[in-house]
Amino acid sequence: MRLTFGIMLFALAAVLGVCSVVAKRSGKPMGPTASSLLLWIIPPVIGNAIIILSGTELLSTIGAYIYYIGMDFLMAGVLHFTFRYCRITWPSMLLRDLVYALLLADVIQLLLNPFFHHAFNLVPIEVNGFDYYKLEPLLGQTFHRLVDYGILAGILAVFAVKTVRSPRLQTERYSVILVTILVVTAWETAYIFSGTPIDRSMFGFGVFGLLIFYFSLYYRPMRLLDRMLGGVISEQPDAMYFFDPNQRCIWMNEAGAKLLHMEENDLAGVGNALAKRFGNRHPGEDSWSDQVITNGKDGTQVCRLSKRPLLDKNRRMTGFYITVRDETEERAAMEQKLYNARHDRLTGLYNRDYLYERTRELLEKNPEKNYLIIYADISDFKMINDVYGYAFGDFALQRVADWVSEEISENGVCGRLGGDTFGVCLPEEEFDQQRTERKLSDFPVDDGTTRHHLLIHIGIYRVTNRETDVSVMFDRAHMAVSTIKEEYHITAAWYDEEMRNQVLWNRQISAELKDAIWQGQIRPWLQPIVDRNGKTIGAEALVRWVHPKDGIRPPSSFIPVFERNGMIADIDRHMWRCCCSILRKWQQEGDERFISVNISPKDFKFLDVGEELIRMVREFGVEPAKLRLEITETVMMTNLEQRMETLESLRKNGFIIEMDDFGSGYSSLNMLKDMPVDVLKIDMAFLRKAADAGGRGKTIVREIINLARELDIISLTEGVETKDQYDQLQAMGCQMYQGYFFAKPMPLEDFEKQFGAAG
Ligand code: C2E
Ligand code: CA
Ligand code: CA
Repeated sequence: MRLTFGIMLFALAAVLGVCSVVAKRSGKPMGPTASSLLLWIIPPVIGNAIIILSGTELLSTIGAYIYYIGMDFLMAGVLHFTFRYCRITWPSMLLRDLVYALLLADVIQLLLNPFFHHAFNLVPIEVNGFDYYKLEPLLGQTFHRLVDYGILAGILAVFAVKTVRSPRLQTERYSVILVTILVVTAWETAYIFSGTPIDRSMFGFGVFGLLIFYFSLYYRPMRLLDRMLGGVISEQPDAMYFFDPNQRCIWMNEAGAKLLHMEENDLAGVGNALAKRFGNRHPGEDSWSDQVITNGKDGTQVCRLSKRPLLDKNRRMTGFYITVRDETEERAAMEQKLYNARHDRLTGLYNRDYLYERTRELLEKNPEKNYLIIYADISDFKMINDVYGYAFGDFALQRVADWVSEEISENGVCGRLGGDTFGVCLPEEEFDQQRTERKLSDFPVDDGTTRHHLLIHIGIYRVTNRETDVSVMFDRAHMAVSTIKEEYHITAAWYDEEMRNQVLWNRQISAELKDAIWQGQIRPWLQPIVDRNGKTIGAEALVRWVHPKDGIRPPSSFIPVFERNGMIADIDRHMWRCCCSILRKWQQEGDERFISVNISPKDFKFLDVGEELIRMVREFGVEPAKLRLEITETVMMTNLEQRMETLESLRKNGFIIEMDDFGSGYSSLNMLKDMPVDVLKIDMAFLRKAADAGGRGKTIVREIINLARELDIISLTEGVETKDQYDQLQAMGCQMYQGYFFAKPMPLEDFEKQFGAAG
């Protein structure tokens, strides 16, 4: 019997130790506090065990001291636990000091017992034939009991107050501990008054510790949980109705009652009220969810109505519940979000993606109607931002957007495609090109302080094939507008197949050019230039693209394209180098002839023409006078002074400048006397076209030749096709000639063969 008790107490101590470690590692907020409380229970339990097991006076005495002094520390531990668990603090520091002073005093007086024998004696008795040392309490022991019981009573009071005062949902948390302590105290007290010889009261504390361990860390009071869940559901903003399997409503929450304008316990009418409000939905189905829009006295309401079954562990239906969520605001927010995703913030027009979508819809809905796709682009918009600031830029965009949307009837759609571009799709019969163009060529924008006239270009694509993707349609309209971007007098361009082919061609050759130059497909052909005696004194280098597949591409097929995009500079530089190389060879062979090269006006934009040419002739060791330079009047149309300077400097360096295509365009004879020009090239072709009737062309040529002579400029006539022309020009005093009459442009080898140096 004794042995059993002893072993059980040791086992209890061990379990307490394990629980203490588990509590510490649990990571729960109460873990460390519960852990130390469990540790403090171990010494008195072991003390109790020693007393029961030992049977000798010495061991029993040691056990008794561990027991009683341990009890004092345990009380301190319980106090600490109580304060943490109940989340309270000492009402006064004085009280705290007094309690701990009493515990300390008790420890001291117990420690003095061996000397004064005032607290207790151990009296040997025989229990069931064993020696046992029973405690005989004296005055000190009474003090000990008073202190410990006093503290325990205080703790009980704290839990009692907590149990009563806490909100209903929390009561259980305290009452569980209160009951535990009450039971343990009763057990302890029962022992004291029972007079049983063997003290085994520490079982009570051990069990108390284990209960604390469980309750403070692991116990989830179901009643509390239930109520908490009930509370959560009650306060849910969604209306909730719970039904038993017989379709009887057994509970609804506050929101549920409010939604149906019913009392919370007025459950009988819930089913009907729901059906009346939202209709009888999906009868017989266990689980569904619908969005319902109602127009009641609460205004338009969007509700999400859902029914879900409640199943038990065996998946048997124990009932079901219906929730009603008010999604009115959610939907409004979503609609706003959708609006933002589909509209341009600045102008309020559709954005690109949504415009495409709406255009697609429009075309699909009206298959019999003819539609136009229009791409509008504001000219120089970057300049407007730079000069007037972004605020004015935004203002201008808004005005254009206003105009576009006013122009469009409900049969069309419009949107902002990006920065300064707008897109429109409208029925062809609603498009008035004349009126639109009038507006586009002068679009005043005035914000009160600044006034600016916008120039807007539009590209128009007539929808022919509806299979074509809408984005491609807009690309085509864009293609059309890109062909007139730099025009000031044309504001609208229609897309057609030819334009498409042209654009594709432009793209293709632009992509090919670099490699073509690299691979020597771009070559100079030479057309002889003869003097009055018919002697070939030089040649004009005319570019040919010798394409591996297409054969020889004439300059007219690519020069205008590259002049527009600036790549002409790459061609010309290449041509100049080729000619320098030919001239070097000729020079070495003692051939004195020159080559004229063409210089495009665009070259001046992309190259430092003067520097480039001077460097090149130096590099090849070519005499500059042998590389004649052909420029046209258009070269002098912009940056006149700078261009004059360049030409002067080239002349100073020994180059000869020829004015090409004289008489073709804007030429003012007057200008000629200030121009740094050595040779005048007169094109017969232009004169033929312009003023042949009545031999006026002949007169003009004669006058130009005379004028040139007077200005000390050499005259050269090109486009000479007949012997007759040659004779006449000779009679007029022209000094040089070029034309099919002498020879067409030809590859270098042919030229050298036919017109060798001696020729
Ligand atoms: P261009 O500078 O006025 O060149 C003269 C054009 O007239 C050449 O056409 C030539 O083949 C042609 N031609 C010569 N004699 C006659 C004739 O008797 N009758 C007729 N009907 N035509 C004659 P091509 O080679 O087709 O060149 C056309 C234009 O392309 C050139 O006109 C020039 O403006 C440009 N071009 C040619 N090569 C180059 C180049 O390397 N660089 C630059 N920037 N432009 C070039
Ligand atoms: Ca020329
Ligand atoms: Ca010419």
